[in-house]
Amino acid sequence: MILISEHASTSKAVQDRLHRPLRDLRISVTDRCNFRCVYCMPREIFGPGYAFLPRKDLLTLEEIARIAQVFAALGMRKVRITGGEPLIRRNLEHLIEMIDATEGVQDISLTTNGSMLTADRAVSLKQAGLKRLTISLDALDDATFKSINDVDYPASRVLDGIDNARAAGFSDIKVNAVVRRGLNEHAVLDLAKHFRHSGCIVRFIEYMDVGETNGWNLDDVIPAADLVDRIDALYPLEAVSPNYPGEVAKRWRYRDGAGEIGFITSVTQSFCGECSRARLSAVGELYTCLFGTQGHDLRSLLRSGADDAQLLQAVSGIWQKREDRYSELRATATKVPVTGQAKVEMSHIGG
Ligand code: SAM
Ligand code: SF4
Ligand code: SF4
Repeated sequence: MILISEHASTSKAVQDRLHRPLRDLRISVTDRCNFRCVYCMPREIFGPGYAFLPRKDLLTLEEIARIAQVFAALGMRKVRITGGEPLIRRNLEHLIEMIDATEGVQDISLTTNGSMLTADRAVSLKQAGLKRLTISLDALDDATFKSINDVDYPASRVLDGIDNARAAGFSDIKVNAVVRRGLNEHAVLDLAKHFRHSGCIVRFIEYMDVGETNGWNLDDVIPAADLVDRIDALYPLEAVSPNYPGEVAKRWRYRDGAGEIGFITSVTQSFCGECSRARLSAVGELYTCLFGTQGHDLRSLLRSGADDAQLLQAVSGIWQKREDRYSELRATATKVPVTGQAKVEMSHIGG
């Protein structure tokens, strides 16, 4: 890895055609999940007959770490581990250790549905070097939450996972809630209320047209601005400036000091202009946009014995050609941009 570490210390971040640097890498470690959230892995498609990726096709943890080193050499500083459900992947802690030891990487976080976040697992993730956790929870009442996860999973057990994370010493915990009209809009105030004064930041996510299986419809999206108004009417809010350019969530805080909340406005206020995120699927395809149709196969390159210089050149070449801005185009078009090809599923490349 000598070449890579020399590159990391001397190079400027590689930029795409719209002058966006490569700063973030989201790594999907599995396409499998124990939930069947209706907006992500609807049971009618991801049922017993669905062909998940064969294990031999998955990148090994070492292969993932090597790719992360290449990205770090090109300017990437933040890694998020996701899936599918990432905690399904065995020995994930080893991957976290390797990424944490990678020169240039400043932050490593994980997004999970919380169902496997036992007290022991939370401790081992923390010890491995995981810095931050995001836990998804779309409602507090079981009727709604179970109708979303579609596997009869109670909200109380996700709350237990959050408590385990806290007990293990994670302080920067975020709670992600996707909001879909008619499904869980009533849960928004419950969640806001529950996590006031908790130190956890709830982030409400506009329901997105990721993939092709969730039957997305613009009418199902509740604009974040409406949610801000609803919460503000009960608990007055004030806007907070972003922590850094390109931050995905718009930040607000309660005027009474009860903490912060966020809104991910990917549909109504796109943020492609500062998007510095690349995504790696569990089989080693590089996607340069969440709404991509075609990944770039890094696994073949890796398994054909490519050296560091060849890997660096490949990834840098892909990023330099990038001009994705799907959400921006969606916002200016009268209908969803038509690509002519099927968009990749969220469970394949991670949120
Ligand atoms: N299984 C993990 C979880 O649920 O946290 C990690 C992977 S999941 C694909 C990552 C995030 O994407 C979750 O917070 C999930 O709620 C969100 N998500 C999935 N489908 C979505 C959609 N159609 N629109 C908006 N967010 C979505
Ligand atoms: Fe699984 Fe996460 Fe998708 Fe729900 S959102 S089905 S928990 S991958
Ligand atoms: Fe980035 Fe693509 Fe999302 Fe735009 S639509 S913010 S380019 S991932």
